[in-house]
Amino acid sequence: MNYLVTGGAGYIGSHTVKALIERGDDVTILDNFSTGHRWATQGQRIIEVDLRDLHLLRSALSGETFDGVFHFAAKSLVAESNQRPLFYYQNNVAGTANLLEVAIENNWMHFVFSSSAAVYGTPETALIAEDHSTLPINVYGKTKLAMEGMMQDVCAAQEFSAISLRYFNAAGAALDCSLGESHEPETHLIPNALKAASGSGQPLTIFGYDYPTPDGTCIRDYIHVEDLANAHLKAMDYVRNHQGFEVFNLGNGQGFSVKDVFSACERAAGKSIPHVLGDRRKGDPTSLVSDATKARKILAWEPLHTKLEGIVESAWAWETK
Ligand code: UDP
Repeated sequence: MNYLVTGGAGYIGSHTVKALIERGDDVTILDNFSTGHRWATQGQRIIEVDLRDLHLLRSALSGETFDGVFHFAAKSLVAESNQRPLFYYQNNVAGTANLLEVAIENNWMHFVFSSSAAVYGTPETALIAEDHSTLPINVYGKTKLAMEGMMQDVCAAQEFSAISLRYFNAAGAALDCSLGESHEPETHLIPNALKAASGSGQPLTIFGYDYPTPDGTCIRDYIHVEDLANAHLKAMDYVRNHQGFEVFNLGNGQGFSVKDVFSACERAAGKSIPHVLGDRRKGDPTSLVSDATKARKILAWEPLHTKLEGIVESAWAWETK
């Protein structure tokens, strides 16, 4: 099969490209390299274009044939999204409208879309299933929800099929150490802790220690990036045979506190990690843990790297490479 992967130079996109190559698919990466990396493109064909520019996008893609589109390209920093809402709406929402327009013009009717648990907002239940209310509490989550809504409307209006994958906390690196997480600035817990451990970053700030959780720090559901990548392949196989729109959560269904993760990072690094206790970070829900039963049942997806230790060790191997 021949797939277009927008944002294929980014963290989750590049791991999905790797999984596609490994199963023998052809890949074209579309990226504007605003946050993606050329080293992450793995020798695949690249189309460098910005989704916001409909005319350039149309001409860059004219005459192409794809069996499906994986759509990762988006801005994803919560704090930045609240500071620059229009930038986020332009990039994420308007960019997706442009991509859908060009995809439909070219008859690429199967989409797998990169969404986020941020669409849920403040959890009302310990485990979050897909039917949980969607009341995002930051602009990033609002744009992801708007992108989902757009795809759902397109699916209702014509023969188009899309799956939206709502990730919980993507983490870790490729087990062969060829790819991993590299954001600038880095905002995520595990890379920040490991950078503090290796000396390539500042001491870790633990954002908030007075949350109503057993140890006072926030709880998240960490899912290995290779498990996420495999879910995309399964979702594409599904969406190519099922008309309409579906959402699936992707997570391990197990919550770990910031302190749990910090301790796992210290064990992986074999040293104590410089850190400070700081204020809460604005917009952080206390706990986000998935119920991903639907993906397991319908997509027959089974995460393989479910142990926090293993996830963190793969990130440490990448950090120290
Ligand atoms: N966090 C932290 N220090 C950091 C980065 C993150 O204490 O330098 C906390 C953050 O407040 C949240 C958890 O770690 O409770 C996971 O944050 P991350 O940014 O990795 O992912 P998010 O859950 O925001 O998608």
